[in-house]
Amino acid sequence: MTTQQYVCKRDGKTMYFIEESEKLSNGEYRVVFAYKCLICGYKINVEQAVIEKKSNGGIIVKRRIKKSP
Ligand SMILES: [Zn+2]
Repeated sequence: MTTQQYVCKRDGKTMYFIEESEKLSNGEYRVVFAYKCLICGYKINVEQAVIEKKSNGGIIVKRRIKKSP
């Protein structure tokens, strides 16, 4: 496995791996994994997953993978 490092296209700074989550209106959660430049805010989405919480306490992960450019 090779370590892949992303560099911001705008200013050449190192981009950091981040995780963002938000609750959707239908009760599901969306989690986005991305590389983000902390200097200018430029972001490359790597992976996105939707998590559904069931009433019985279980969860369903609907995973969607987005290829990096
Ligand atoms: Zn930048």
